[in-house]
Amino acid sequence: MKAAPFEYTRVSTLAEACELLSEHGGDAKLIAGGQSLVPMMAMRLARPAWLVDINRLEELKHVELRGDALVVGAAVRQCVIERNADAVRSLPLMNRALKWVGHVQTRNRGTVGGSVVHADPSAEIPLVACVLDATLVLQDTSGRSEVAAREFFFAPMVTAIAPEQCLAEIRFPVWDAPRVGCSFEEVSIRHGDFALVSACAQVALDADGKCVRAALGIGGASPFPHALPEIGAMLEGKVLDDMLIEDAAVAVAGLIDPDGDLHATAEYRRFLARMLAMRVLKAAAEDAAGKGAK
Ligand SMILES: Cc1cc2nc3c(=O)[nH]c(=O)nc-3n(C[C@H](O)[C@H](O)[C@H](O)COP(=O)(O)OP(=O)(O)OC[C@H]3O[C@@H](n4cnc5c(N)ncnc54)[C@H](O)[C@@H]3O)c2cc1C
Repeated sequence: MKAAPFEYTRVSTLAEACELLSEHGGDAKLIAGGQSLVPMMAMRLARPAWLVDINRLEELKHVELRGDALVVGAAVRQCVIERNADAVRSLPLMNRALKWVGHVQTRNRGTVGGSVVHADPSAEIPLVACVLDATLVLQDTSGRSEVAAREFFFAPMVTAIAPEQCLAEIRFPVWDAPRVGCSFEEVSIRHGDFALVSACAQVALDADGKCVRAALGIGGASPFPHALPEIGAMLEGKVLDDMLIEDAAVAVAGLIDPDGDLHATAEYRRFLARMLAMRVLKAAAEDAAGKGAK
């Protein structure tokens, strides 16, 4: 199918984008990489009357370490963050996650912010944002506001963003510890497809190998990317041995309430969540253990 007719403006400032969103309300949509919006328009699942193209906004393309966070402009392409030296060093979980996001071709166009606002419950970038407890910075004509990623996602493609708001940047907390390890795993029907279920974990160990901080989340098994701080609390202060990791994975399965669909039953998704949680925790612990103390 072809998209319904629409007007198009390529803006040169963020302020201009916000003005257009404010003027046209829910009838206007921002277009970034177009990797989700264009297929939805072609299938007539989205029918914006006005497209506001933010691809040339340099003010949304920064990647910088600021205090204890890596700040990523919303229009930074996924392929840029994949190769950016600061991101690779300070945000290794994102780097692991990006390998699972679509294909090289989609990552060359798709943006970090577009993935967050699109809010597919299986998408990898929103899961990383929730697990690391990132902050989203939204802008409209009246100024900026902040919302925690964990409070942003409500349901598939339903978020806290208002029609007149633009996601400006995402602040990902950087863990300042000598031994941080992470892992991202998922199961999908074909590589590059959206995950049936995904899991990611990041852990920090002290010099004795005890876990001082842990974060874990599950994608594709809830209507939103699901961070599970309960699991972090269960692991902190302990040595991440096989028995503890198995107990944590069983707890993960008890904390989620997946739906079944054409592709997988609820029970299969719960099973995958348990197995993937076990795998990512083991791999993250091994990754951290392999790093010598500073
Ligand atoms: C073949 C294929 C496979 C894919 N596989 C995966 C996958 O495995 N995992 C995955 O996560 N994704 C996958 N995707 C989607 C891809 O990651 C998209 O890039 C991403 O979902 C949207 O980013 P975008 O920049 O293309 O956004 P667009 O498509 O341009 O926009 C998406 C939505 O976000 C809004 N938006 C964009 N930027 C902003 C902003 N700054 N502020 C406010 N609203 C904004 C738009 O209005 C629109 O509603 C796949 C896509 C394709 C085509």
